[in-house]
Amino acid sequence: MEEYRIPVPATGGKATYRAGKLVCIGRNYAKHAAELGNAVPTSPMIFLKPASALIPSGSDIVIPPASADVHHEVELVCLIGTAGSHIPRERALDHVAGYAVGLDMTARDIQLLAKEKGHPWSVAKGYDTFAPLGNFVPAEAVSNPQDLSIRLEINGEERQAGHTGDMIFPVDTLIAYASTIFTLMPGDLLFTGTPEGVGPVREGDRLCATVEGLPPLEVGVRTS
Ligand code: ZN
Repeated sequence: MEEYRIPVPATGGKATYRAGKLVCIGRNYAKHAAELGNAVPTSPMIFLKPASALIPSGSDIVIPPASADVHHEVELVCLIGTAGSHIPRERALDHVAGYAVGLDMTARDIQLLAKEKGHPWSVAKGYDTFAPLGNFVPAEAVSNPQDLSIRLEINGEERQAGHTGDMIFPVDTLIAYASTIFTLMPGDLLFTGTPEGVGPVREGDRLCATVEGLPPLEVGVRTS
């Protein structure tokens, strides 16, 4: 899985990227922060997921034995194409090679325990298969990443429906901010947070995640 490659049918640049770090944003939609009882953050709330959690569309999320409450979080994902540190916000989108829809799967029960104890979220967010990722479109195909509808259906029933214009911190701000902490490298992925409506998945479910204009992401669910 470390060798997972991301096809980007972009003109120029690399056709594939080796997945780097997964930079994820928590509580980036006000209604989602509220549904989990969290305050709206005053600066982006960042955590990391391991690249080993990535799976492509058409595969299965595996619910680990340690969790009885694995939640879906549908998110717009940006692929970094050009390295940068302390990237100015006005230049941030120039560093994006492509966009895809992703799922930030979360063992909510494990995360709640971690929150209570002040422990990190790495376990709750980092299991194998916890980062399903759809196919990318080149960045040029998305004229405004803050003007996209975002949805998740389970077994044909709508569970999450939002709009990227409701992000508290838009993509350019997230890239600028994250790059003050980590040098962003080609192949890094930015998961930009989820709108409201998160909830559990169960064995046998079929998930279909979509962001307007991007290839849909379809995954199944099974237990290990
Ligand atoms: Zn998330």
